[in-house]
Amino acid sequence: MSDAIEEPGTTSEMDVSTVQTNANMAKDDVVLRVENLQKSFGALVATDHATFEVERGTITGLIGPNGAGKSTIFNLISGFYEPDGGTVTVNGTDVTGTEPYEVAEHGLIRTFQTPRKLEGMTVREAMLVGPRHQPGESFVKLFTDPKTVGEHEQQNLADVERILEEFEIDHLATQPATDISGGQMKLVELARAMLAEPEVLLLDEPVAGVNPTLRNKLAEQIQRLNEQGTTFLLIEHDMEFVMNLADPIVVLDRGSVLTEGPPHAIQSDTKVIDAYLGGGGV
Ligand code: ADP
Ligand code: MG
Repeated sequence: MSDAIEEPGTTSEMDVSTVQTNANMAKDDVVLRVENLQKSFGALVATDHATFEVERGTITGLIGPNGAGKSTIFNLISGFYEPDGGTVTVNGTDVTGTEPYEVAEHGLIRTFQTPRKLEGMTVREAMLVGPRHQPGESFVKLFTDPKTVGEHEQQNLADVERILEEFEIDHLATQPATDISGGQMKLVELARAMLAEPEVLLLDEPVAGVNPTLRNKLAEQIQRLNEQGTTFLLIEHDMEFVMNLADPIVVLDRGSVLTEGPPHAIQSDTKVIDAYLGGGGV
């Protein structure tokens, strides 16, 4: 891990354990901490000393222009990419460089910007292939010979039914997962992530390409789950959506934290406006 960062233009209002960042590092109950994260792809520096914290119980927004490195940070946090440097701490445990299932065991789950392909499965079956629910022979038996499956699988199936109802998508249960709309698929992804009972859920552009009705439904579900105790880190390009839902908002630009603050402050911050104008736009 590299130590001091000497980037021109980087302000140092906070100086916590030699880490410089524009993020607020004075939070009470930190559930996720990213410190000096570093990741390059060849000559391209995608993540550049990224440092920020997520407070338990919040919906924290992560925004920034196209290519700012938002999805890369999610991949680094959730164990899908190995960082070149820096640390990821979940619930006080250093999970840097561990496998996604290990990060999940510490309570952190993520969804993907592009949902995975679920050919040949119904929505109910797709739900059962949740992050902590590995399919096996017993998975098939759930549908072919339900009497012989164990209590654990029966419980999984009961959980799936309950969550489908909570998300008001139980009517989709027997539909082929590939036949539902993109918006419905995003709801299924969120519902499926909840099966793992995460403490922290990372959502990568949950409403990209989703119609306004389903967008509202997703917002309601995120709010409901947050009120029930789930912490969210939310990447979203739809500014209205993220500004209505998230507080605080962390702004990423060229792999580093540009600033952090409440939505109203971020919206009128000239640094943020300049970053969007100079980057991929909104
Ligand atoms: P964002 O999600 O903010 O739009 P990304 O994290 O997807 O940005 O990408 C940040 C930069 O890293 C981009 O320039 C992108 O092309 C590059 N990048 C991301 N993943 C890879 C990869 N697996 N291989 C090479 N370059 C990558
Ligand atoms: Mg992305």
